[in-house]
Amino acid sequence: MSIKINIAKFIAKVGGPFSRFGPGSGKSFAGILFTKIAGVDGVLELSKDLDIGSVILTGTNGKTTTTTLLIKLLSNDTQIRSSYESNTINAIASAFIQQNGELGVFEYGIRNIKYGVPDTVQRVVDPIGVVYTTISQEHTQVAGIKNPFEDYYKAKRLLSQAMTRGVIVTNADDPRTALIGIDKEKDVRVNYYGIESEGIEDINGEDIACPNCGEKLTYSKHFLNHRGIYTCSCGFKRPDLNVKLTDIEFGQDTWKLTIEGDLFNYTVSKNVKFDLDITVPPFGFHNIYNALASITAYATFTPKVENIETTVKKIFNNLDMSFIPPGRFEVVDIGGKYVGLGQGDNGDAIKINAMFMNQYVDGPLEFIYTTPDEDEEEIFEDHFEVVKSMNPEHVIVVPGRKSIDKAREYYEIIKKEYPDAEFYPLSYDEMEVRIEKLTELARNSNYDYVIMTGCGEEQAMWERIKRKLIDD
Ligand SMILES: [Zn+2]
Repeated sequence: MSIKINIAKFIAKVGGPFSRFGPGSGKSFAGILFTKIAGVDGVLELSKDLDIGSVILTGTNGKTTTTTLLIKLLSNDTQIRSSYESNTINAIASAFIQQNGELGVFEYGIRNIKYGVPDTVQRVVDPIGVVYTTISQEHTQVAGIKNPFEDYYKAKRLLSQAMTRGVIVTNADDPRTALIGIDKEKDVRVNYYGIESEGIEDINGEDIACPNCGEKLTYSKHFLNHRGIYTCSCGFKRPDLNVKLTDIEFGQDTWKLTIEGDLFNYTVSKNVKFDLDITVPPFGFHNIYNALASITAYATFTPKVENIETTVKKIFNNLDMSFIPPGRFEVVDIGGKYVGLGQGDNGDAIKINAMFMNQYVDGPLEFIYTTPDEDEEEIFEDHFEVVKSMNPEHVIVVPGRKSIDKAREYYEIIKKEYPDAEFYPLSYDEMEVRIEKLTELARNSNYDYVIMTGCGEEQAMWERIKRKLIDD
């Protein structure tokens, strides 16, 4: 390690607590300081401190939950450095500087190529693993500029494109993440996870275009939205699974999952097999994928392969719902009234919320929908399909983002289908008023089943409304 890097590292470590970059930068401050002195390329030197290497997790949905689960699993076997909910190289650099451990686990959200710099992150973090959850259309605007889906997909792909060693862990049931794996099989190992069980079938599955040739894919089965078993006339099809859910029993209070694994472990450089039965809370279909992603990544990178079965059982059999990140969708029972609430910023997320809510609904339902912004008509279309699929008896519309005028336009479209829908033009700038009103709407609803979801700030809005409903 060069003198310049060592000095930068020292200053960053010492200066860390004295953040002058304003609130929110605290977690990343050491990294900001380091890259200011040593440059972004200096991070490559820091990455060499990790004896095993770094694993980066990305995708549209499920990143934070999968990262949380992977951290729980790997921490049982070895010391790790980690960061989650990070979208900058500085958060990863901070973890390199401030933490100890032979293995790194980093969540990395990428909206587009310019702001996400995925190729730079790949180059300087030099990961031994990239884990993909799932890729679907989300907010189409980044910093006021339209971000086409192709660019978004390309950015996710760039994070692993230049890898020449290590393992890609990817969702085989999602055609987009599967193709990223298939295209890299010539360079690195790829471990695929997915579902191979009769017990799961999505009735409103979504057929998407082949990411390889653009033709419509043929699905023999849908598991969750565009995830399923698919083939294409170009030869592209779902890859064989290394880790698969083979059976599931849905109980009232617990679900029993049977999982089989046969994959390449990077750290010991050999193939390992495992068979697992785990008992988890009824955590929703999407968390089956998050569980599979975390177990596959864990088994791929743990240095203690002999621990795989016992560690996975220990972590999952003791799981409670607190592993769900703040602001994400949850169903709370407020005196016999079930209110499902939380963020659903994209079509995929809101559908997952709806499916989760449906586990509880047993009577007429009210839908309190928070809209997207201007230039987000595609998100609205996906959202509205989900609103209709829930067959609500009453709909309330609230702006979920800045534009009240645009929210009113979305409301007018909804009103054609639901004539007694109501509109509350709550301003984004008066967050307190908005939180108060949304809490009141849920609490005083005439319905025993209320779902409140759509766009909105995760922690500043959803988490606070949730806490208010639970606490007072
Ligand atoms: Zn094709």
